[in-house]
Amino acid sequence: MADTKLYDLLGVNRGASDGEIKKAYRKLAKEFHPDKNPAAGEKFKEISYAYEVLSDPEKKDLYDRYGLEGIKEGGSHGGGFGGASMFEDIFGGFFGFPGMGGSGRNRRRRGEDTFHPLRVSLEDLYNGKTSKLQLSKTVICKKCSGAGGRPGATVRCRVCNGRGVKVTLRQLGPGMVQQMQSICPDCHGEGETINEKDRCKECKGKKTVSETKILEVHVDKGMTNEQKIPFRGEGDQLPDMEPGDVIIVLQQKEHDLFTRSHNDLYMTHSIGLAEALCGFQFVIKHLDGRDLVVSNPPGEVVHPGMMKTVLGEGMPIYRNPFERGNLYIKFEVAFPPNNFVDEAHLKTLETILPDRPVVEIPEGEHVEEVNLVDYEETRSATGGRPFEAYHEDEDDGSGAGPRVQCAHQ
Ligand SMILES: [Zn+2]
Ligand SMILES: [Zn+2]
Repeated sequence: MADTKLYDLLGVNRGASDGEIKKAYRKLAKEFHPDKNPAAGEKFKEISYAYEVLSDPEKKDLYDRYGLEGIKEGGSHGGGFGGASMFEDIFGGFFGFPGMGGSGRNRRRRGEDTFHPLRVSLEDLYNGKTSKLQLSKTVICKKCSGAGGRPGATVRCRVCNGRGVKVTLRQLGPGMVQQMQSICPDCHGEGETINEKDRCKECKGKKTVSETKILEVHVDKGMTNEQKIPFRGEGDQLPDMEPGDVIIVLQQKEHDLFTRSHNDLYMTHSIGLAEALCGFQFVIKHLDGRDLVVSNPPGEVVHPGMMKTVLGEGMPIYRNPFERGNLYIKFEVAFPPNNFVDEAHLKTLETILPDRPVVEIPEGEHVEEVNLVDYEETRSATGGRPFEAYHEDEDDGSGAGPRVQCAHQ
């Protein structure tokens, strides 16, 4: 297959003389010089590269015999000019010329990575688990080995003359023409097409087929929400491209009891006043099914909002699963309702509980006695902002009324 892309770039025939090549290059270089035509910088680079090859007898010979691959091979050990890296800078980066940038040995273009979420429970992250994930992916057609048809069935695209790009000229004004490049719609930028009758029956000339693949995802003990598990090279296969990775992203479902922070677990437990004062026991069903019996001895008073720690009962540490974080328990204390005991019992309670402070009541005309009423009943009457509004999510955003600073005791 004779490669004529570089000749095409300069708009000359394969048999053109050195003089014709030089003349064609000068004319195009003038037209596409970045100083004059900043939008055509890539085009200028292509033209320059074509001239660089075709004006050098040795490189021209390599190119005529082996096409661009030949230049690349020659350039990489022949010295003298940029070689493979320059080659790819120019051609590899911006359009996929067939048989060019994509087929380099060291720097193949790489496909994009594909991300798939995997929902897991906190139990899964604690105990570890293997999940099977079914994915559909694009693979190189096995029947034609990605050629799309019989060997030699590919023909140069007639619409773009094998360049893969379509150049359109747009008249901007008198004497001003803008040149625009777009991917050739006929060959989708590949520069070549396959005749209908020669197309591979399996992939219909598309070179790839869709396949269902099952991935075994190992969720290791201690893995975290959003953790990525990569499968190297399992991405879509495309001709002349190194496939990207499939990346599984763990998505942890919320747990009814525990929340996690790093390797630690947090939970809230509600106790009554009797428990808070007289000690208690309760049972936690842990993530591996164990029942943890938690005890607080009588006499060790638990205050509302107090935090206690169970050492080593947090999450296993990733890649070191015999070590674990801690479990932190926050206690809520539910106080008894109004009038839950009669006055006689209250008197008894008072003899047990710590003494009430003795308050000296001042006397005189500046002393006034006021009543305490339940807060809930007064919130609508005053129009002020209830304290609770700061804690509940009911801010209506109106900003009306004075803001009352909530004074915590
Ligand atoms: Zn095929
Ligand atoms: Zn085309």
